[in-house]
Amino acid sequence: NMAYDINNIFAKILRGEVPCEVINEDEHTLSFADINPQAPVHILVIPKGAFTDWSDFVSRANPEEIVAFTKAISRVADLTGISETGYRVISNVGVDSHQEVPHLHMHVLGGTAIGPLVTVKG
Ligand code: 5GP
Repeated sequence: NMAYDINNIFAKILRGEVPCEVINEDEHTLSFADINPQAPVHILVIPKGAFTDWSDFVSRANPEEIVAFTKAISRVADLTGISETGYRVISNVGVDSHQEVPHLHMHVLGGTAIGPLVTVKG
C-alpha cells in the first residue's frame, strides 16, 4: 500500500492549482478531460478524497463516496454523448498496470470503436 502523495497532479487539480477542463462535478467527484486523449472522448473521473487507487478506495471510502463515484462514471458518458454508442471504463492499479498518477481515476473512453481490451497476453 503506497502512502497518498498530496502533491500528485490530480491533488493539485482538486486544489485548483492546476487547470482542467471540467466535465462534471459534485460533492464527492470531479470529472475532466484527459490532457493526452487516447480516443475522441477520454474523460478521467476521480473521487475528491485522498485515495491512491481502486483497492485503497474500496477499503477506505464511505458508502456515499462509493455511490457518487460509481454514478459519476455513467453521468459523464451521458454528458459527452457516448452512452448510446458505447464506451470503455479502465482503472490502472499499481506498477504492472502502469498507473502513472497515484490518485484513483477511472478512464472513460469512447466516441469511436475502442479496439482490443488489452495488448498483453498470458
Ligand atoms: P494512468 O496511467 O495513471 O492510468 O493515467 C494517467 C492519465 O492522466 C493519463 O491518461 C494522462 O494523460 C493524464 N494526465 C496526466 N497529467 C494530467 C494533467 O495535468 N491534466 C489532465 N487533464 N490529465 C493528465
